[in-house]
Amino acid sequence: MTGGLVVVGASLAGLRAVEGARRAGFGGPVTLIGAETHLPYDRPPLSKTFLDGTAEPPFYRTEQTLVEELDTRLLLGEPATGLDCRNRVVAVGDREIPYDGLVIATGATARGIPGTEHLAGVHTLRTLDDALAVREALDAGARTVVIGAGFIGSEVASGARKRGLPVTIVEALPTPLVRAIGTAMGEACSALHAANGTDLRCGVAVSAIEGDGRVERVRLADGTVLPADLVVVGIGAAPATDWLVGSGLTLDNGIVCDEYLATGRPGVYAAGDVARWVNPLFGRHMRLEHWHSAAEQGGAAGAAAAVPGSAKPYETVPYFWSDWYDTRIQFVGVPDADEVEVVLGDAAAGQFVALYRTGDRLTGALALNKPREIMKFRALIGRRAGWADALAFAAKRREPISHGVS
Ligand code: FAD
Repeated sequence: MTGGLVVVGASLAGLRAVEGARRAGFGGPVTLIGAETHLPYDRPPLSKTFLDGTAEPPFYRTEQTLVEELDTRLLLGEPATGLDCRNRVVAVGDREIPYDGLVIATGATARGIPGTEHLAGVHTLRTLDDALAVREALDAGARTVVIGAGFIGSEVASGARKRGLPVTIVEALPTPLVRAIGTAMGEACSALHAANGTDLRCGVAVSAIEGDGRVERVRLADGTVLPADLVVVGIGAAPATDWLVGSGLTLDNGIVCDEYLATGRPGVYAAGDVARWVNPLFGRHMRLEHWHSAAEQGGAAGAAAAVPGSAKPYETVPYFWSDWYDTRIQFVGVPDADEVEVVLGDAAAGQFVALYRTGDRLTGALALNKPREIMKFRALIGRRAGWADALAFAAKRREPISHGVS
């Protein structure tokens, strides 16, 4: 080995790749390349608690831990610009970084609205710098318009409402979150907005975002004009693979990998939001944008790339959470289902568990404010439980607890 392990992308999956390699006993050189100048930090708080007040940036590790304890060479603020798999070299501008094993963990980039780049006050929310700008606007009491009623947009709306600020969410689809959790549950979640004073407008497109240097208003296709000091665009993210065009890796909505997170090129693995790998549990390719899978894939890919022959298939029951107002939303499994049934709690009261059936198998579960229940259903999905067994299990959870004295 000469180049050792190189990890491109210095965020959650990249950090876990470094840690996974060291945990697997790899003692060779490790280089972590990151486009941002920041040390790796945690993204979920950026659209949640970080917006509320004065929280410090959520860095995972100090520079000292990375450099001394994990013995990592940091190249931060320098995006990788190319990959030559034949000669095992990553290009960073005009520098060439050789590798023996490589983990690509470049994540995803927030989609913006073309033509708004020149307007101050229009932001996506993907990075720490984005979150600092959004928080500063909220501090100044911004009238806020969120474009897209997905999870991040909804969390931003929630943060603005907590401060008592007026917020409108504009969603082009008739029902939000259909792809993430299905139609019925998308409706159930979006009811939280009305209940908390957010003006949610569905089925209407944005026709223009206007202002003189700084955003002043959002014009909708139905003629409505929404005054705005802050516009947060939450219309999804695209895998950060531009720099890999021409590298020979298969790129198709992410880096296409097998169940080992291997790309098919010697020593090259992918992990996190950028990876579209075969999840053996569901027997198909998936690309997730979820914290837990990014962390686990990073650890697995780091070990596999650093210690040849050590790769193991990575399978998971997808899991994500989101915090809106005073509600914790959690989803496990996959959302495309033949039937969705509320089995615990009360949907109208905003505290329930709904199960998702595909064929005769339990394939998903959604919980609102039922944090202790959801992981039990995740375990059932992991064991490939049948629908009848899942319903029977739920019925047992519903049975009243006996307080009899003996
Ligand atoms: P990323 O975190 O996107 O990191 C990729 C890194 O690679 C970035 O730092 C990027 O700058 C860098 N990079 C890109 N291109 C290059 C290049 N060419 N060279 C070098 N570096 C490069 N998930 C949940 O499950 N629950 C939540 O509540 C939740 N909330 C979220 C809130 C926000 C605001 C965001 C943005 C995400 C949230 N997520 C949540 C998703 C979760 O944070 C991601 O799944 C996770 O961050 C993915 O980690 P990653 O390392 O794969 O990618």
